Amino acid sequence: MNRARRAEYLAALGLDAWVPRRAPASGSSPPAQEPEPDWEALRARVAACTRCGLSGTRTQTVFGVGDRHAEWLIVGEAPGAEEDARGEPFVGRAGQLLNAMLRAIGLRREAVYIANVLKCRPPANRDPAADEVAQCLPYLERQIELLRPKIMLAVGRIAAQNLLRTQAPLARLRHQVHSFGAGRVPLIVTYHPAYLLRTPADKRKAWEDLQFAREVHARG
Ligand code: SF4
Repeated sequence: MNRARRAEYLAALGLDAWVPRRAPASGSSPPAQEPEPDWEALRARVAACTRCGLSGTRTQTVFGVGDRHAEWLIVGEAPGAEEDARGEPFVGRAGQLLNAMLRAIGLRREAVYIANVLKCRPPANRDPAADEVAQCLPYLERQIELLRPKIMLAVGRIAAQNLLRTQAPLARLRHQVHSFGAGRVPLIVTYHPAYLLRTPADKRKAWEDLQFAREVHARG
């Protein structure tokens, strides 16, 4: 996310705590700078978050899971019913398929970090609304700053479109190395495992994407 867009998001949130404050022009001593949240502070903020309406319908927030030193960051759309109940992303059948996809390229679930664009479940699994994404994305961005992954894998159209700020269909976003944020993290797009459960014929394409991601990671 570029600087201007980040500023736009932060302004929308009324959030300046994550950005060092400017010193006053002259005179008085500079205000104390609030530190950017570390993992635990960020987790606590998310757990208590009421910035969008999803706080009223969630069972709990779903912060993310995995190795905080991971080179791979997997990003999905939003928690579903099982994730909302358990507080962990990608559990249930879709989670098992994601684990199998990762294993196929030699990665254990525990060795990557897994998160979603939204930390709370949209009711009835509807698509995230634009304002919900705007409110929530700074949390993921801070996670990315803390994690400093070598590669990101966006799984599913919703995650890919929101991370890349595009309306392009998923088919057009595959087979390319995108880059995310100021850190220009290489980002590869593939299918969501829940989609692959419904459309197993596309598993072969997902396999191609994963091989491609592995190549890009190896290059880095
Ligand atoms: S979805 Fe994100 S912004 Fe909305 S209440 Fe949950 S944590 Fe806060």
